[in-house]
Amino acid sequence: MEVLQLSQNAGYGFFNQIIYLSHCEWLILSREIFPGFFYFNGMKKYTLCLIGLMLLSTSACKRQTEENTILTNRDTIFVTDTLLQQKLRNEHMVLATLYHQTAAEYRALCYQAFNIGRLMLDKDLANAGIEKHRIIVLDIDETVLDNSPFQAKSILESTSYPKYWNEWCELAKAEPLPGAIDFLNYARKNGVSIYYVTNRKEALKEVTIKNLKETGFPLADGEHVIMRTAEASKESRRLDLLKKYHISLYFGDNLNDFAETFEGKSAEKRLLAVDDNKDDFGTRFIVLPNAMYGDWELALYGYNGGQSDSALFDLRRKNLRPF
Ligand SMILES: [Mg+2]
Repeated sequence: MEVLQLSQNAGYGFFNQIIYLSHCEWLILSREIFPGFFYFNGMKKYTLCLIGLMLLSTSACKRQTEENTILTNRDTIFVTDTLLQQKLRNEHMVLATLYHQTAAEYRALCYQAFNIGRLMLDKDLANAGIEKHRIIVLDIDETVLDNSPFQAKSILESTSYPKYWNEWCELAKAEPLPGAIDFLNYARKNGVSIYYVTNRKEALKEVTIKNLKETGFPLADGEHVIMRTAEASKESRRLDLLKKYHISLYFGDNLNDFAETFEGKSAEKRLLAVDDNKDDFGTRFIVLPNAMYGDWELALYGYNGGQSDSALFDLRRKNLRPF
């Protein structure tokens, strides 16, 4: 049996020990489970043997360690520690959530989006040929309200949507995105109406309005907050509004917030669809960044997010493009 020990910075910083058992299988152990191996699994001899081999092979394995510091999707990874399995489940969300919560660049991007919105709204207001009443259509989550605390909770509790989602919404404590309220108040001052078109479920309408109202968003009421219908697509809701109004601008963090043409496409086709509509971005469509979740992620999974953690792990890595 070939045994290799990798250093802590071998791809996954929190893995304390990674032991290579064969050419295609990895057994990953953390220090936390060693007591369990010793006293509860009846594997004392086996464990002692493994540790002995690891110590003896440390220097001999250094050269090979370098070769194996990057795990590829050709390898099968076995995580034996339940606690480590839970930590791994949402590990891929950590940096994205930190980006939203701590990166000043994220905040700057939000201001940038609403500043561009104001410039484009001024341009639209100057167009005397528009007869219909002007409105702005915005998504809610990660477009005007920040749900990163829900993501952080999911990471720390090793849970995933919909666990805790209703509890989070019912708190009605989501913070506004930087720049959103000032921009929308500016629009209101110029006689433009606001419609919030969200895919939150109808049961959350009251708490969503409460959250928007208490954080200072204009026109946060039953008429202007439009919840999810039977279908996830926002197309019919957009078309209903278009019958009556001129939509000056759309704001969203997901391409599906803008037009039907982006829906249900593969990651590659989504990129092409954006190329095909490139003139609309920053003019009619204002995009807010969301690295935490969205159809961009679901597209990687073939719109099947219910696959096993292992399958999703592999799909993420398969979509990486190394040099
Ligand atoms: Mg959204």
